[in-house]
Amino acid sequence: MQTVTLNNGIAMPILGFGVYQIPDDRTEQAVTDALAAGYRLIDTAAAYRNEQAVGRAIKNSGIPREDLFVTTKLWVQDAGEGNTERAFAASLDRLGLDYLDLYLIHQPYGDYYSEWRAMQRLHEEGRIRAIGVSNFPLDRLVDLITQNEITPAVNQVEVNPFHQRQDYQLRMRELGVQIESWGPFAEGRNNLFNDPTLTAIAHARGKSVAQIVLRWLVQRGVVAIPKSVRPDRMAENIAVFDFTLTHDEMTRIATLDTAQSQFFDHRDPDWVRQLGTRRID
Ligand code: NAP
Repeated sequence: MQTVTLNNGIAMPILGFGVYQIPDDRTEQAVTDALAAGYRLIDTAAAYRNEQAVGRAIKNSGIPREDLFVTTKLWVQDAGEGNTERAFAASLDRLGLDYLDLYLIHQPYGDYYSEWRAMQRLHEEGRIRAIGVSNFPLDRLVDLITQNEITPAVNQVEVNPFHQRQDYQLRMRELGVQIESWGPFAEGRNNLFNDPTLTAIAHARGKSVAQIVLRWLVQRGVVAIPKSVRPDRMAENIAVFDFTLTHDEMTRIATLDTAQSQFFDHRDPDWVRQLGTRRID
């Protein structure tokens, strides 16, 4: 598996498997299938409420721990250094692991400065190999970097053909922050799987639309974590390393950018209140 090198020198697979919205009782099987298909990066979150099932699949796979790259995320409610440390320990316990590869602040809300201080300490203690953030607008990201010692290794944000985030990628590259795509297929919104441009490129290449989208991300150097509960699609989504999109194909995909979220704007006051007050337990 191709990797990217994070700002602290560790390698992260460029393609992984996301488990958002996989019900707890289906997650163990899905992760088992994903590991069998060759995925080694698994992306979960305390808020997905399926860390335990992810942990069971990892344990039963027999894959050496050092071959895996496990990400989970801290929810907004766990601000305060003590709370963050407790939430981290609880996630680790549910995952059945004794260290984490990547721990992300899930949302740019609340007292995330206290969360970051706790995460820096956990990182220094060797309990997390890399720390990062998710859904951080560039101004919040720069402020966090300016006021702290450790620069986030990753910012996981929505990136897909309709919301391409070239501006984020450019600025984050300057800052030393790796861009990671959530929602690489926009969960099928805006009829992504039938988009005429993507379909035309897919037909010409004998590939699927999903493969074209993931190849486009990989070629841009964007880490992607597609989700599927279907083993056939897991295999399809990871088979994107045997072809290269041409400059012309990349340019045609670039024209699909609407520079708008397919979901919601993380700066919309109603969403800030809704997510900022959501409790997960
Ligand atoms: P996504 O990966 O863009 O799309 C998943 C959808 O695409 C599912 O409905 C899946 O259906 C379908 N699909 C997958 N492969 C396909 C294929 N080859 N052909 C056709 N359909 C296919 O959406 P996502 O789950 O929202 O994003 C991926 C991961 O990013 C999440 O699982 C999570 O780990 C992370 N995420 C993070 C945040 C955040 O705030 N940090 C937010 C959202 C997501 P089936 O399952 O039925 O195959």
